[in-house]
Amino acid sequence: MTRGTNPFEPPAGGLSLYIHVPFCERKCPYCAFESKVPSDSDTDLWLETLGKELEWWIKRIGTPSLHTCYIGGGTPTVINGPQWLRLSEMLDSHFRFDPDAEVTAEANPNSLKADHLLLWRDWRVNRVSIGVQSFDDAELMQLGRLHSAAQAYEAISASLASGFSVSADFMFGLPGQTFRNWARTLNQAVKSGINHVSLYQLTLEPGTPWESMPEQDLSDGYLPYRWAQWYMPRKGYNQYEIANFAKNGHASRHNINYWEEGQYLGIGPGASGYLNGWRYKNISALNEYSRLLDRGGSAIASGERLSGEKKASEAAVLALRMSKGIDRKEFSLKYGIFQERKIIEKLSRFPEDLYNISEKNISLTLKGMRVANRIWSELV
Ligand code: SF4
Repeated sequence: MTRGTNPFEPPAGGLSLYIHVPFCERKCPYCAFESKVPSDSDTDLWLETLGKELEWWIKRIGTPSLHTCYIGGGTPTVINGPQWLRLSEMLDSHFRFDPDAEVTAEANPNSLKADHLLLWRDWRVNRVSIGVQSFDDAELMQLGRLHSAAQAYEAISASLASGFSVSADFMFGLPGQTFRNWARTLNQAVKSGINHVSLYQLTLEPGTPWESMPEQDLSDGYLPYRWAQWYMPRKGYNQYEIANFAKNGHASRHNINYWEEGQYLGIGPGASGYLNGWRYKNISALNEYSRLLDRGGSAIASGERLSGEKKASEAAVLALRMSKGIDRKEFSLKYGIFQERKIIEKLSRFPEDLYNISEKNISLTLKGMRVANRIWSELV
């Protein structure tokens, strides 16, 4: 672990908090996220250890104020009502939430219960992010999801009726997915009244059951993505990031904080954080996570302090994810004019219709966003 200044100082200003719930009811065959099907005692062990990790951090950084909090996973709706209540009390006693803090809970349609919505509304949650993936039952079954399109629609309606800002995730590039099915899914998404959508292309991740699926079995992602870029803004959802579209006032402040290099504390097995210029990642296995914290140690498995060109390139890649791109003045003040010129020089190796360079900003065009991974490999 390389360190520069002390990562464990109280951070200046507030920060964001990410809580990782590492459980799912069933593992989807394409998923490489840190999660497992919990045994009876796992969820209690996780919650108890989370309390110890919070104590560990608070001793070092005090009780910072939170601009945003995101409880994600995994599937946070695997956690039952009493466990959610305990979690909310733990967070209230360790942090000072800003009065307008954005607090998001992730949910899956089949495990989201009325209890969750009531409890969240009575506590601080004001945003719900639902893993819908598709409004086509055959696609949902193929993806190994446990919910139907009708259940997804009900989960969205119930969340909206409870007064939450609602986001949903959808996937394209699935084996055999037709353009017609994708268009139908997005049309249903719009009709459902959600405030925000996140669109992801299926990728074959190492270590997953679908790892060995031939790439050619996947459907081409170009048309569905480019069509969504055309369609969603016409329905009032502005694209503010490569994968994210929101109605006015509903962009995810928590995620924008990541892309703007804001500080965040990541808590839970496998969670990552960024504090005082230092990135860290927690140990992933629940038992090891619990063993380390039981002994009074930290859950951090690895960390690095980014500096110089590496930090500038990472900041550029994060900023270019967003439609507004890099603020040239801010960037050159922070990293120097030399680093800014380097970014421009590297971008200019690509066709001109993939990026925009104005006096104030550097950004990717809609077409450039589609090939962002190619651009990142040049920039970093
Ligand atoms: S529900 Fe989400 S986190 Fe859980 S296995 Fe499926 S894709 Fe992964």
